[in-house]
Amino acid sequence: MSAGYFPKREKVGLEDLFKGLVTASHILHHNGIVDAYGHISVRSPDNPATFWMPCNIPPALISTPDDLIEYNVEDATPVEKNVKPGYLERCIHSEIYKRFPAVNSVVHSHSSDVLPYCISGVPLKPTIHLAGFLGSSVPVWDISSHYPSGSKHDLLVRDTTLGASLSASFKPATSAGFLYSKMRSALPSQIGGTAEPDHEPEHAVVLMQSHGFTTAAHGIEEAVFQAIYTKEAAKAQTTALAIRNAHFGRTVEGNVDVEHGGKIKSAKVKAEGDLKYLTDRQARDTSEAMQATISRPWGLWCREVEINPLYKNECPSGED
Ligand SMILES: [Zn+2]
Repeated sequence: MSAGYFPKREKVGLEDLFKGLVTASHILHHNGIVDAYGHISVRSPDNPATFWMPCNIPPALISTPDDLIEYNVEDATPVEKNVKPGYLERCIHSEIYKRFPAVNSVVHSHSSDVLPYCISGVPLKPTIHLAGFLGSSVPVWDISSHYPSGSKHDLLVRDTTLGASLSASFKPATSAGFLYSKMRSALPSQIGGTAEPDHEPEHAVVLMQSHGFTTAAHGIEEAVFQAIYTKEAAKAQTTALAIRNAHFGRTVEGNVDVEHGGKIKSAKVKAEGDLKYLTDRQARDTSEAMQATISRPWGLWCREVEINPLYKNECPSGED
């Protein structure tokens, strides 16, 4: 299982890909990234113009190749007719694949640990070495100013217009950009050696206002890793903010008007320093370092869902 689906394998058979996509769905559920909602997809290894995604059932209950649907990247329509109903928000996935040819897997989540950073205005930043992929900033995309006229304002990415708007917030990388430099150094021969900066997103993760987050990656394992450690980074940051404020409190600096009863004339709240976040250099270097280790947690996560009776993966194994 450690061989990887994308991009480490030269060739990926569809059977193997299906098995990996089902396992990844189970891992995301087991780690609280998805519940009945949320999803992962993977670009077709044989045809970059299509991608595979589970049908409209909870990720934990996906079990067979019949639960998976192939969609066109162009408009998120099914390749085959008369397929099972799909997820409403599959345009999140199609528009990211359309804009970024180097992206091969996408995860969308409503994780409750990440949601506070989609609501509060507090920026999510890399606080731990396992989340260096967050880079120097994590954008928050707000759907409210992007609804096509006449559409529902239900926060769901229901169409290609909204999907394209979200995808744009990942921003094309520049040749000096964070993700491109990471990818170039870590995966020199990936995607046929034709890596171009603008094929890569500048950001690995985008938060969605009042909704959740989406992460884009080169392969299934990397997408799962980024989803899980986005959640872990959010938990660490939230806890650190809470204990910092509880321990240090806040001091008030100001002037007291003695002649008029000791009233405070002017004051400002002074916080005792900010959290220590990773520097840009630390984020880039830790991201590179951890990318080389993804097969280790992946092997553990696979075994965890394999022995849990909730999860059934009845996809036949491909040639390995
Ligand atoms: Zn959603």
